[in-house]
Amino acid sequence: MNKALLYFIIFLLAACNKAEKKPSSVYFAGEIVNPTSEYVILYKGDVVLDTALLDKNNRFSFQLDSVAEGLHHFYHFPEEQYVYLEQGDSLQIRLNTVDFDESLVFSGTNEQVNNFLLEMFLANEQEEELIFKFYNLEPEEFILKIDSLKNTKLESLNSLSIEAELSDNAMEIARAGIIYNSFIFKEAYPFYHKRKMGEKSIHELPPDFYNYRTEVDYDSKGLSYYRPYYNFMKYHLNNLSYMDCKKGCGTQNKMTNNHLHFNQHKLKLIDSLIKQEELRDNLFRNVAMDYLLKYDKEENIDVFIEEFHHLSGNNKHMHEINRLYDGVRNLQPQKKLPELMVFDSEGNKVSITDIGKDKKVVFYFWSAPEKRHFTNIINRINLLKEKYPDYTFIGLNLRTEKSRWNNMLEVEHLDKSEQFWTEDFEDVAHKLIVYDLSRGIITNDGIIVNAFANVYTSF
Ligand SMILES: [Zn+2]
Repeated sequence: MNKALLYFIIFLLAACNKAEKKPSSVYFAGEIVNPTSEYVILYKGDVVLDTALLDKNNRFSFQLDSVAEGLHHFYHFPEEQYVYLEQGDSLQIRLNTVDFDESLVFSGTNEQVNNFLLEMFLANEQEEELIFKFYNLEPEEFILKIDSLKNTKLESLNSLSIEAELSDNAMEIARAGIIYNSFIFKEAYPFYHKRKMGEKSIHELPPDFYNYRTEVDYDSKGLSYYRPYYNFMKYHLNNLSYMDCKKGCGTQNKMTNNHLHFNQHKLKLIDSLIKQEELRDNLFRNVAMDYLLKYDKEENIDVFIEEFHHLSGNNKHMHEINRLYDGVRNLQPQKKLPELMVFDSEGNKVSITDIGKDKKVVFYFWSAPEKRHFTNIINRINLLKEKYPDYTFIGLNLRTEKSRWNNMLEVEHLDKSEQFWTEDFEDVAHKLIVYDLSRGIITNDGIIVNAFANVYTSF
């Protein structure tokens, strides 16, 4: 059937049924030009609602019986974007992965609010550079600039709400995107201004500088996965923790050099400020991941995790956090390297503890798809090999097909006795905590000397 005709009929049906209850089923579909994966995944928060396979015309569609009204997001590897959905919505998108966000267009019910949210997203991206310059300004001037950007956006939202019929919820989310984005810059200002201007201490602020904080909603369920809101919370907590510590704990050095102390402030603040469960869990998780990946000493991380369990014992991310905590603990100096099986170039399974036996070893990581990292690290390792002839430098390959890895050993003339292939990235990442490919693990006869060295800066 002719598409225009079909839409016309749907429109007529919708018009006839206007007085009746809206249907609850939701249709979300679209076309992806130059797809970079075969799938589109639809999320609500961190929950996958459904996965759709692209057809031969690169089209996908989701048909849902109902939705929880509000922000969702869809993911097409490696990018994602928001989509606002209400009961009964029928919404189409079109996008080209070459310019993912810039090319995205929504059409159908609720197209206005979705296109508006996207417009705001793009405007915020474009403004970043400009705002970075504003950090040089004195606080009064800075506020004027930031407020004027915010007000222009609020005005265009107002005109949209006159033209289009937006639900209260849609209006609320569009407004939140605008205001929380502008709040982020104000939370960041004292620190960015100090750094950019090279000032010794935090600039004195006018008494009304933080007045906008009275507008902050610490309890909004609908916004907990919305980036402007969530990012605002992170900046806000950093700011409050810093100010709290500065006021209550005296010496400033204490906190800049003491990750544990600073992060304890953050835990306490989240506990006292945030009641909404998802937001609370996510922010607690954020602090824990951030802190644990700074690889503090064992006695400190023990204190941290105890406090974490006390304040957020039923955190839904607990398993992930405990795993990371165990991982960091197992890699403390003087401990034995964890048991991990890897493959040599002949295809034999070997344990890394055997590789490290009776010698001093530096383990480093590389992955074939990360080309620049590969070139840099191999050059760096060659330098280190000359400088430290009593060490053996062992390359652990991650996330590469075995045949490709074997081929690279040949083509790049790598020493096969010093290169090993790993099969299960999850397992390696968990046991050796590989979040940063510049990591080096220094061992002596299989005993850890420093598992959190950096190949570029620690030697
Ligand atoms: Zn403090």
